[in-house]
Amino acid sequence: MSKLKYTFGPVPSRRLGYSLGVDIIPMKTCNLNCVYCELGRSTDMTMTLKEYIPADVILAEIKQVIDSGERIDYITFSGSGEPTLNTAMGDMIRGIKAMTDIPVSVLTNGTLFYMPEVREMLYDADLVIPPLDAVSREAFRKVDRPHGHLDIERIVEGIITFRHEYKGPIWLEILFVKDINDSPQEVKLLAEVAEKIDAELVQLNTIVRPPAESNVEPLTEVELEAIRTRFHCKTEVIAHFKRDDAMAPDLSHEDRIYDLIIRRPVTCDELVASLSLTSEIVEHHVAEMLDAGRIMTSEYSGELYYTSPRQKNRPVLVENGKSQ
Ligand code: SF4
Repeated sequence: MSKLKYTFGPVPSRRLGYSLGVDIIPMKTCNLNCVYCELGRSTDMTMTLKEYIPADVILAEIKQVIDSGERIDYITFSGSGEPTLNTAMGDMIRGIKAMTDIPVSVLTNGTLFYMPEVREMLYDADLVIPPLDAVSREAFRKVDRPHGHLDIERIVEGIITFRHEYKGPIWLEILFVKDINDSPQEVKLLAEVAEKIDAELVQLNTIVRPPAESNVEPLTEVELEAIRTRFHCKTEVIAHFKRDDAMAPDLSHEDRIYDLIIRRPVTCDELVASLSLTSEIVEHHVAEMLDAGRIMTSEYSGELYYTSPRQKNRPVLVENGKSQ
């Protein structure tokens, strides 16, 4: 299999099993700049919709992975930025459906659902997972730090309209950041809007990886559970993924490890679980990549993460074992 540029994994996902990630947007091209973003701060804050990467390029790469026979439970649009900014996404989803029965999911920030052409792009997806981190303008501004042309009322209306038009399931994800969007008033507003959206499932989350801003804090599991009881629709606190078997893709161990690290910060245990490698092999290769300066380390919540120097604007607490 030749080097893959726009797909990653399949990686074991907490929600989707073995998920082949599809990245159709340049790194950190987004219309939000969420304080918790695990990719660091948005470097291209844009509302420009265009064909960032053509559909035929993406489809050729997906076909290559499918033909390799790896286990894939979902093909998931996610990755380095907001995928609905790419106007070729509808063609990509239709192209995948013509190629395989593997279901397609889309992780989108949902901010552009007020545009009919964006909603239409997603009609053929099997699952759509939009987040909604706030309902009040104040909390939205603080947690998601949106592009100036975005308005939270219009975003909520767009998601509700999409709900009425789209035939597949919607899982609404709400990520809570301590003292920013977890006030009782904000939780009440979120619970009311979640009921209106009538999602099949509401998933409550908090910061679990190094965030874009080092001064933001997660909620505890107890706090998330308490919030869960305030929701009247089917709601769960997202649990951690448990290890399962996987087939190995035809790349070197180091390439596979590096491929995951450049996508998002990962721990040694996650690399071991994701790639079905022993901890000795993972430790050997990350040590070599650290020495070569290909990757660096970052500490968060007492965990050591491996991350990429490509995410230059991420606040780094520790680099290659040395405090900065
Ligand atoms: S978390 Fe998603 S929506 Fe928020 S800044 Fe990062 S890529 Fe954009």
